[in-house]
Amino acid sequence: MAGALPAQQRAGLLLREIEGLSYRDIGTRLGISHGAVESLLFRARRRFKREYLRLEGEEPTTCATVRHLTTVIGRAHLGAWQERQVARHLEECSGCRSRLEKARRSALPAA
Ligand SMILES: [Zn+2]
Repeated sequence: MAGALPAQQRAGLLLREIEGLSYRDIGTRLGISHGAVESLLFRARRRFKREYLRLEGEEPTTCATVRHLTTVIGRAHLGAWQERQVARHLEECSGCRSRLEKARRSALPAA
């Protein structure tokens, strides 16, 4: 994930978090001022967090497609090919399996 950061931000973050250098030592290593180190690390952390959250929230395309086919269209209305894709995906994706199971339960009339 840190691979998405610009080189200088990545270097600053690594020197700080991995090597534990002071801001002054980082400044010396990168050839920038103390203030520049501060803003560099601030931007690096903010960017890192954004990248991390983006990856966390990303749903694999197949899961999104399967969810659409099963909950929006409904399995009864799928063509043979789509039904096969859905069945195969559900076999290997426990996340979609439990989501579908939950949806099915909540669709049942309350006893
Ligand atoms: Zn899935």
